[in-house]
Amino acid sequence: MIDTFLTLDFELFLGAQSGTIENCLIRPMEQLDRIAKKHNAKFTIFVDTAYLIRLDNFSDSDSDKNLWHDYTTIVRELKSLSDKGHDIQLHIHPQWLYSNYVNGRWEIDQKHYKLSDITEHEAQKAFRDGCELIQKITGKRPIAFRAGGFSAQPTSLLKKLFEENEIYIDSSVYPGNVYHSLQQKYDYSNAPHGTIYHFEDDICVPTHALRGTRNAWDTQRVGHATRGTRNAWDTQRVGHATRGTL
Ligand SMILES: [Zn+2]
Repeated sequence: MIDTFLTLDFELFLGAQSGTIENCLIRPMEQLDRIAKKHNAKFTIFVDTAYLIRLDNFSDSDSDKNLWHDYTTIVRELKSLSDKGHDIQLHIHPQWLYSNYVNGRWEIDQKHYKLSDITEHEAQKAFRDGCELIQKITGKRPIAFRAGGFSAQPTSLLKKLFEENEIYIDSSVYPGNVYHSLQQKYDYSNAPHGTIYHFEDDICVPTHALRGTRNAWDTQRVGHATRGTRNAWDTQRVGHATRGTL
């Protein structure tokens, strides 16, 4: 038997035209949900909380109330997906922290695309706020993270952020791949190709350290996503790396 994790990012298009929430988020997600229902499958949905928080911030100053409509529609959609059994987890595209809404459209910053492009303090706040928002919407704290654009390195910072927020699963690694651009930077050329492994300081180096406690990792919190991985989760404090997608 093979356990397959169906994971996806829930985010606006990050180019010059960000698209509408109906076309980029709501309709595609509802179509996927219908397919999932047909096959009795559930998704792990990595929600870009940096976008949601920025959207909420700007909604106060948007006299047309379009942004407030977007925010409340997305929150309702995520609550509904969570109630249906899909798993809502943390995804952060840091460029949203520097992006602005001007004349009815988003101007997305391209200079703060990676986690390493923002300060440690900003990263700590983005994680803390993102976890709190997901908990507020779904009633459950996230325990898994995917870095925007796969760019999770250096993982010494990631480890600290995981420990502070009780995140212990990563889904940012794209094994065997290397990419350097203004927006993205990662080197997973040495990452193991196994679907799940433990790591500590370096996300590319598997470790078998036993530092966890069973109670800290209540597998009920993620339901379907943990099927088949209970033993691994019971024994690792810092996290797993799993294959990710952009
Ligand atoms: Zn993404």
